[in-house]
Amino acid sequence: MKKVSYTTTGSVRGCCGHKHRTIASAVKCVHEDSVGCARQGGYSDRYVIRHDGSELSAEEHDQVDSINGFTDFTQEIESMINCRKNPRFY
Ligand SMILES: [Zn+2]
Repeated sequence: MKKVSYTTTGSVRGCCGHKHRTIASAVKCVHEDSVGCARQGGYSDRYVIRHDGSELSAEEHDQVDSINGFTDFTQEIESMINCRKNPRFY
């Protein structure tokens, strides 16, 4: 099975620049960005996508939904990526 990594992006906030090993980690990243933006009176439009830029499968969307609401997950960033390599991020 091909290993899938995840990242987060949004048209306003852009890419987080992380390569997340798990969906849970990416969801948490979106959550933390939302919190950070809310503190400044804004909001984050980031959402989880696959690291290769492709859309999540229905199954992965279900995972995101089930993870949302959880706050007890560990941040698992595999490595930093260069957002500019993928024009989808901008
Ligand atoms: Zn991230």
